[in-house]
Amino acid sequence: MKVKLANGKGEVFNLENNTARVLIAAGTLVEYVAPTKPPRIGITSWKAVIKPGIRFEKESYIEPTPTIVASCSMCGGAVTLTGRNAHKTQHFLHCGLDECVPADIARQYEGLYESLKQKEKTREQSAEVQKPHFIDIF
Ligand SMILES: [Zn+2]
Repeated sequence: MKVKLANGKGEVFNLENNTARVLIAAGTLVEYVAPTKPPRIGITSWKAVIKPGIRFEKESYIEPTPTIVASCSMCGGAVTLTGRNAHKTQHFLHCGLDECVPADIARQYEGLYESLKQKEKTREQSAEVQKPHFIDIF
């Protein structure tokens, strides 16, 4: 067992376990426990973005989607979160951590949904204005 003098003087040395325990009990020695290294945890970068829509064919289209992207500087872990409640229900697991979406990113994510809703409303209104008007001639 690794021990050192109870008064803190001198260096750490090895001593047979039974002898060490007797001297520790007598107060002459203390067991030496090596300091543990702090865990290596990366810095997570978060962002809320709108993933652009994709048009495959005339009839096939994927809508633009608010998306949360997170990545870790240490382990290289990365995640893409989507869905109306992704900022409330989904987490980023890496480096032994279970991270929730930070509040500022959650607010940005909500804002992206609102801006898409506003754009859709504006598009619907302008489509109504551009509708051809028919005049009944009968
Ligand atoms: Zn990590």
